[in-house]
Amino acid sequence: MDEKMTRREALRGLFYAGMGLAVGGPLLKSESARAAGMSGPWDEAPDGTKIDTRTWDKMGETLGLLGLGCMRLPTQRGSRRLDQEAVNAMIDYAIAHGVNYFDTAPAYGESEVVTGKALSRHPRSAYKIATKLSNMGGRATLEAGQQMFENSLKNLQTDYVDFLLLHNLQGIGSYNTRFRDNGLFDWLLEQKKKGRIKHLGFSFHGTNADLPPLVDLYDWDFVQIQLNYVDWKEMSRGWGAGGSSETNSEYLYNYLVGKGIPVLVMEPVKGGALANVSDGVGALMRERHPDLSPAANALTFVGSLPGVMVTLSGMSNMAQLKENVSLFTGFKPFDEQDMAFMLTVADLYKSKGQIPCTACAYCMPCPAGVDIPGNFRVFNSASDALLSSDTGNKEIRDKRKAFLKLYNAQKKGTRADACVACNACLPKCPQHISIPQHMQRIKDLVAKI
Ligand code: SF4
Ligand code: SF4
Repeated sequence: MDEKMTRREALRGLFYAGMGLAVGGPLLKSESARAAGMSGPWDEAPDGTKIDTRTWDKMGETLGLLGLGCMRLPTQRGSRRLDQEAVNAMIDYAIAHGVNYFDTAPAYGESEVVTGKALSRHPRSAYKIATKLSNMGGRATLEAGQQMFENSLKNLQTDYVDFLLLHNLQGIGSYNTRFRDNGLFDWLLEQKKKGRIKHLGFSFHGTNADLPPLVDLYDWDFVQIQLNYVDWKEMSRGWGAGGSSETNSEYLYNYLVGKGIPVLVMEPVKGGALANVSDGVGALMRERHPDLSPAANALTFVGSLPGVMVTLSGMSNMAQLKENVSLFTGFKPFDEQDMAFMLTVADLYKSKGQIPCTACAYCMPCPAGVDIPGNFRVFNSASDALLSSDTGNKEIRDKRKAFLKLYNAQKKGTRADACVACNACLPKCPQHISIPQHMQRIKDLVAKI
């Protein structure tokens, strides 16, 4: 493939995009990972299988189509501390099956340290590290940014980062404050020249209109966006707050493909929300693809888009990893009809009024002690019943009771009723969820039930 994606290829993507979707022949080269695979006695799966890969010649990289997101790694029983042994086992399994992209960040707590320990037990050539400059929340000086980068290298036990992302850019304003005005971006370019950063990109959480000015700033090697079948046409702000067709994965994806920039995808399962769909949504998917779980449907939607280089999934246990590895080994992409079908599933999903929380915990800690993602998870477990006016229906009544039980099982002081509407969480949420408004509504619902 030429230095950049050819114009014809880009147009092919945009042709499908005109129908709302991009499927068909790969814009990136796909091949059996085994053919491009790594060797070594420790990195072979017993049956020799490996996940599919995609190659982007401009970068000179061949990456597994599935990447391991290290934001939700397994924790020790009864503790928030990460379980090093469990992480080691997952990373060993992943590498043995051709997963070679590992995504972490200083903002993910212990993740860098634990991931670094697990990865450093393997040859450095067997894996690619992606980490971020998470200089949000008042850490935007040059020195703080430099320190954060050096610390990442130390945590990850390496002297270079394969993929460095400017973390959580929402638009040109956040870029200017966090990277331009303090000289940090220039410093990062120097590190790239020195080979301490192989590829430079950013993770994006702004609106459609915010993306082009950021893309124009630099010849980015890649961009990471939120993409899943529910957000394809519009990213919802959650129940009662409506959605915004001004922000949608379809536009972001097609814009980047049109520019020849490889797309890395985060939140393909929306922080796990698309793995735990309501009975009706699950039944609709099962009817068409009896062998695919709801999470597998969501991941297949993303992997079927030919401009996607890596589908990152934040896996929390070995069972999830095994299911995902199996899905991406001899990956069977959806055809155009399947992709269109997923958009009808998205409509049904949205009609259930869920709060689109991905449990990223960027909004935490709440100064009043509210467990924000915890309350949203409890609400989402019964959102359709809670928002229904059909209180005569036994199934709905039972679901409401189950919700109440879960709500009350949360520790006192962490429930929605502890929210004092201080708004401190609002600017931190990359999903732009009206958190205090939702807490008030949950509080009202509980009182009503
Ligand atoms: S608005 Fe409510 S949930 Fe958000 S930080 Fe303030 S008290 Fe916590
Ligand atoms: S409310 Fe927003 S910031 Fe908080 S966990 Fe959910 S998605 Fe993340």
